[in-house]
Amino acid sequence: MSIDVTGVTKRFGDFVALDDVTVTLPTGQLTALLGPSGGGKSTLLRVIAGLESADSGTISIEGREATHLPPQKRNVGFVFQHYAVFKHMTVAKNVAFGLEIRKRPKPDVQRRVEELLELVHLSQFSHRLPSQLSGGQRQRMALARALAVEPTVLLLDEPFGALDAKVRKELRDWLRRLHDEVHVTTVFVTHDQEEALEVADEIVVINEGRVEQVGTPDQLYDEPANDFVMGFLGEVT
Ligand code: ADP
Ligand code: MG
Repeated sequence: MSIDVTGVTKRFGDFVALDDVTVTLPTGQLTALLGPSGGGKSTLLRVIAGLESADSGTISIEGREATHLPPQKRNVGFVFQHYAVFKHMTVAKNVAFGLEIRKRPKPDVQRRVEELLELVHLSQFSHRLPSQLSGGQRQRMALARALAVEPTVLLLDEPFGALDAKVRKELRDWLRRLHDEVHVTTVFVTHDQEEALEVADEIVVINEGRVEQVGTPDQLYDEPANDFVMGFLGEVT
């Protein structure tokens, strides 16, 4: 099983943001969408999520045709760079939110929230407000919240972009460990070569609305598909 993007084109007016993109993202894998700013990474993620509709092409998620499904029917969880947290709600309430609006039984919600907070090492902060957490802890809360509804796919758009270098690195390792624990199919967008190379099982290099290469970090290094990939990876500091 996998996420299959087939022949997807997305235009904004005359501008072609995605140009006939075909790519397969295997189930259970941690995949990075990597490329320079403006290349179309976020647009691809949003098309997979159903937040943008493609002009042509199809999306299937874990074997299920999803091209015309609304976001809430795609069973995806999101984390964005600036995550919209509920400032007046405790950490536990924030994590519970998606379950409560789905009217899950209270004891189930409570048990699930405890599990998730343990998973992201925030159990002792469950009664705090988001403003009483560090930036890194807030993004961990965002991850727990996205995982609460047991999505089949977790989509992250530059999830650590707003954080300082040290915290970014911590969260990077942390995302890797979390993924190894829950094995949910995860796609994360980054423009940071080092981040993609260190964390991802597989990297999709995207530039000017096209897929330049798909490969493991080793494959990209050993056999860059073209000058663009070679140049872009060469910018790793
Ligand atoms: P990336 O995430 O790789 O930086 P994006 O997918 O956000 O790139 O954007 C790709 C291109 O599409 C950019 O040139 C951007 O300006 C354009 N774009 C993205 N969203 C819109 C929109 N809603 N309307 C018009 N242009 C857009
Ligand atoms: Mg983006």
